[in-house]
Amino acid sequence: MVMFDELHEEFRQSVARMVQQHIVPIADEVDQTNRFPEELLEVFADMGLIQLAVPEEYGGPGGDLTATCIAREEIAKGGLTGLGQLGGQTGVFVQPLLAFGTEEQRQRFLPELAKGHALTCLAMSEPHAGSDAAAMTTRAVKDGSSWVINGQKCFITWGSVATYSLVMARTSDRPRGEGISAFIVDTSTPGFVVGRHDRKMGQHGVPNVELFFEDLRVPEENMLGEEGTGFRLALRSLHVNRPTIAAMGIGGAQAALDYAIAYCNSRMVRGRPVSSYQGLRWMIAEAATELEAARCLVYECARQFDSGLVSRDEIGTISSMAKAFAADVVMKVTTNCVQFLGGHGYMQDHPVERLFRDAKLIAILEGTTEIQKEVIARGVID
Ligand SMILES: Cc1cc2nc3c(=O)[nH]c(=O)nc-3n(C[C@H](O)[C@H](O)[C@H](O)COP(=O)(O)OP(=O)(O)OC[C@H]3O[C@@H](n4cnc5c(N)ncnc54)[C@H](O)[C@@H]3O)c2cc1C
Repeated sequence: MVMFDELHEEFRQSVARMVQQHIVPIADEVDQTNRFPEELLEVFADMGLIQLAVPEEYGGPGGDLTATCIAREEIAKGGLTGLGQLGGQTGVFVQPLLAFGTEEQRQRFLPELAKGHALTCLAMSEPHAGSDAAAMTTRAVKDGSSWVINGQKCFITWGSVATYSLVMARTSDRPRGEGISAFIVDTSTPGFVVGRHDRKMGQHGVPNVELFFEDLRVPEENMLGEEGTGFRLALRSLHVNRPTIAAMGIGGAQAALDYAIAYCNSRMVRGRPVSSYQGLRWMIAEAATELEAARCLVYECARQFDSGLVSRDEIGTISSMAKAFAADVVMKVTTNCVQFLGGHGYMQDHPVERLFRDAKLIAILEGTTEIQKEVIARGVID
């Protein structure tokens, strides 16, 4: 079993307690209404969860990648897998700022983010540029000391509630990723327009929206990294974030398995608990084993990064392995958890139905499994 050192274990237990108190009681209602449970934000900020990745020198808790994976796994166990993303919510903004930003930019944004009251989002995908994000057409044109951005993004998680967005836009006609730059955008800027809210299969409680940029004016000092390096910067940051998405999926699937085991222990068929039939016992044993294997890969990836054994440039292969493997496992496990409950598993009266819907996203979010396999193949073959 994956074991943590004392500090991480204490942290895990404190998140688990919070989840029992604040998420478990609202999980079913939030799934049914698909409302964004804003009341959780204060609780999460007080625990340092939203701002987990902000280093101590900027006033944050200085959580490492292992801590973010723990937070996401434990939050997802509360029964709403997607809410796991609130653990280290600002990570995909903070990580590139730390790695590619200037000290002036870090000083400008990190102390505020350290308070945990500002959410962030990453605006990269477009209706015709998802897996092939380098095909994006959102354009930024220099005008005096500003860049003026026009274009459209889709599916953006937290896009309607974020204070800052990391926006990718084309700044030149150089081929593919070389023409793309990254901008830090205050979402209250005129021209930052939130469009339709997506109606999703699962992961309810987490807002996803279209974004439109209509002559959105961004000061030149808000460009992150050099002009033309935005695409590389985003990919490096997503590589580091992938084990946290896997951890979130594992948390949701573990919640489904725990529920299914308790159900099978009490469900009597032909005078015996169904958990006593070997057919189910072996399926449960396999599910527990595969989840643990996925967990091992996730936390090994995080350990290698936290201890400096792999850099941001080198983590891609193992982080894609962790996410692709976990995505398959959580889909298989949650599918079987529905099966363990028979007809009852198909009903919304039991959380396995919701966790099964939630699990599907792990193979799509932040790069599909097919794209992860491309990254892995490049790492092991080329
Ligand atoms: C709920 C949700 C939240 C999201 N949040 C965000 C967000 O916050 N920010 C953001 O920028 N984006 C976000 N996304 C977008 C997400 O990253 C993309 O949906 C994903 O990268 C896939 O792109 P696509 O949907 O355009 O699929 P496509 O690229 O059209 O892919 C279609 C199919 O083709 C396969 N495919 C594509 N290229 C290859 C290839 N080279 N080899 C083999 N197979 C291939 C894919 O795997 C997939 O099966 C979100 C998506 C969802 C559903």
